[in-house]
Amino acid sequence: MRYVSTRGGGDPRQFCDILLEGLAPDGGLYLPATYPRLDAATLAEWRQVLADDGYAALAHRVLLLFVDDIGSDDLLAICQRAYTAEKFGTDEIVPVTPLGDNGMWLAHLSEGPTAAFKDLAMQLLGELFEYELTRRGRTLTILGATSGDTGSAAEHAMLGKESVRVFMLSPRGRMTPFQQAQMYGIDNPAIVNITVAGPFDDCQDLVKGVFADLQFRADHSLGAVNSINWGRLVAQVVYYVASWLRATKADDEQVSFCVPSGNFGNICAGHVAREMGIPIRRLILATNENNVLDEFLRTGVYRVRPSSETYETSSPSMDISKASNFERFIFDLLGRDAERVRELFAGELVRTGQFDLSDTSEFAVLASTYGFVSGTSTHADRVETIRTVHARTGVTIDPHTADGVKVAEGFVGNEPVIVCETALPVKFSATIVEALGHEPERPERFVGLESLPQHVVDLHGGVDALKSLIVERV
Ligand SMILES: *Cc1c(COP(=O)(O)O)cnc(C)c1O
Repeated sequence: MRYVSTRGGGDPRQFCDILLEGLAPDGGLYLPATYPRLDAATLAEWRQVLADDGYAALAHRVLLLFVDDIGSDDLLAICQRAYTAEKFGTDEIVPVTPLGDNGMWLAHLSEGPTAAFKDLAMQLLGELFEYELTRRGRTLTILGATSGDTGSAAEHAMLGKESVRVFMLSPRGRMTPFQQAQMYGIDNPAIVNITVAGPFDDCQDLVKGVFADLQFRADHSLGAVNSINWGRLVAQVVYYVASWLRATKADDEQVSFCVPSGNFGNICAGHVAREMGIPIRRLILATNENNVLDEFLRTGVYRVRPSSETYETSSPSMDISKASNFERFIFDLLGRDAERVRELFAGELVRTGQFDLSDTSEFAVLASTYGFVSGTSTHADRVETIRTVHARTGVTIDPHTADGVKVAEGFVGNEPVIVCETALPVKFSATIVEALGHEPERPERFVGLESLPQHVVDLHGGVDALKSLIVERV
């Protein structure tokens, strides 16, 4: 399998090269040159693999189709280290359960170390990084910014990996106490938490400022783990396959998925699974008040929002103004015409802040060809949905998952609708208290988390101060 850039530049690359690279040199995102197509016999075989050998074995089968520069035995060992019952709480790794009796299901993607679906991708990425860096005799210094879930998932995945250091910036005092404790409670010299006075955007600007110094970047082998990394996406394809298998009995039985979305990373993996031939009827995209993607799917206009129009909501991990993975889907939608993609994302979007595909033949068939539909949910919807789901089923869902359930309700059909649970309620207790009048249940592993001693450095100064800190601590 070779990988190409959505903007058409450069030669096709192999998996391990793009794993450590992030963005393509031409500014595009990497995708497989073609999607593997699954035949009926393979689907039947995978059903047996999941039943007999479990999630890690299924992950191995899926990854083999995308990775040809790691030997099969090594790849299996990587998957087995990433997906253990110890880390994910159950042998199933991703349990899938009915949510009431109206055809809705919940895919429990948030049972990992930091209680968000990002663990499923990060745990695999951590193992892949360690494997490939050791093979190349290299080390990597991950520099990133987080508004909550990404940073803690990355830190817990890289913890104990000999070849990796992490420097993670977060906005001082703006994450939930639980999220802060998850990151700052880590006591390890290879993980450096840095707080910045100001919003998340300031953190991101500082990171970009350091990355812009190409010499510094090379000297300190800086890398990133953001959601555009193909390694994360391919890890997510696995749980679409596993969830479909768990909610169906026959290999031609269709399901739909509803996905609380921000950067289009999670649902993009659903799109890849569907292109591979997993019988997915619809991909239902749910947004909160920051509904850039819902707007595009309804109107064909993709309009990036300025920060003045980006709202702080009670599903904060979906508070985005532009969706960093969206270019991948547009590449497929436009028949993989890299020149048009480049003109849209490096041209029109940069010049005008938007592009409009409403008059194109591709947009006209978007829903019928790719299965995408969408909806927006609000704070009032989240609170009401958390309350009604709890009353109806006894299950407490987090505010992001509630956005998904709310939007999914508009599309319940004959096929099972699987809602992706993207976080556990314990991470966002204030909204749970507002909806239910009591704190969410706290899983055993998080008891006492907030009383651990916290390890964090306050950054005073700009890009140069950050660089000095990196030099000092690497
Ligand atoms: C990251 C995140 C999302 C958004 O996922 P994308 O892949 O960016 O679309 C939704 N919910 C939670 C809880 C998250 O952490």
